[in-house]
Amino acid sequence: MYPKIILDLIENLKKLPGIGEKTAERLALNLTSWDNDDLMLFGSNLLSLKQQIKYCKNCGLLTDKDTCDICQNKQRNQELLMIVEDSKDVYAIEKTNTYQGLYHILGGLIDFSRGIEPKDLNIDTLENRLNMVHEIVIATNGTVEGELTAQYLKSILKDKNISITRLAYGLPVGTELKYADQLTLIKAVENRQKY
Ligand SMILES: [Zn+2]
Repeated sequence: MYPKIILDLIENLKKLPGIGEKTAERLALNLTSWDNDDLMLFGSNLLSLKQQIKYCKNCGLLTDKDTCDICQNKQRNQELLMIVEDSKDVYAIEKTNTYQGLYHILGGLIDFSRGIEPKDLNIDTLENRLNMVHEIVIATNGTVEGELTAQYLKSILKDKNISITRLAYGLPVGTELKYADQLTLIKAVENRQKY
């Protein structure tokens, strides 16, 4: 019943998280009422997304520069390094305004059932960043994969003379960091425990 371009758009939109058939239809139809300039801008933003987004060569955070703003900020505590699964976790922690250290983004978690091994993650570059670090906060999720990854990190860091801590979730097992509310995250960072 829809013209092909609308059907194609619906398929595109359905790939976004939380967007089902009905919502995708509504969004696609809504776009038909946009004026030309707005549609052009939307389209050109989509086209340049992949060209302009890259990963910080230092920590692995999504950025549009070679080195992200957090790594460049010398006011941040260079002795404290938090290891997280992906950029979304960094955004969640940053929103709480309580953490002043640096981050290291793994780009995933170890998951043998899906063939994801340590070598597939951003772990090699971690070694080069440890010179000034006194404490590493392992902030992977409280899931099986998050715990497995935390244990792996602990095993490779244990001889480095660096204090290793783990977020105190105070959450049911299985909770993902990026979906935790702000107060829970603040408490989790404040009450992090020796690991
Ligand atoms: Zn960075």
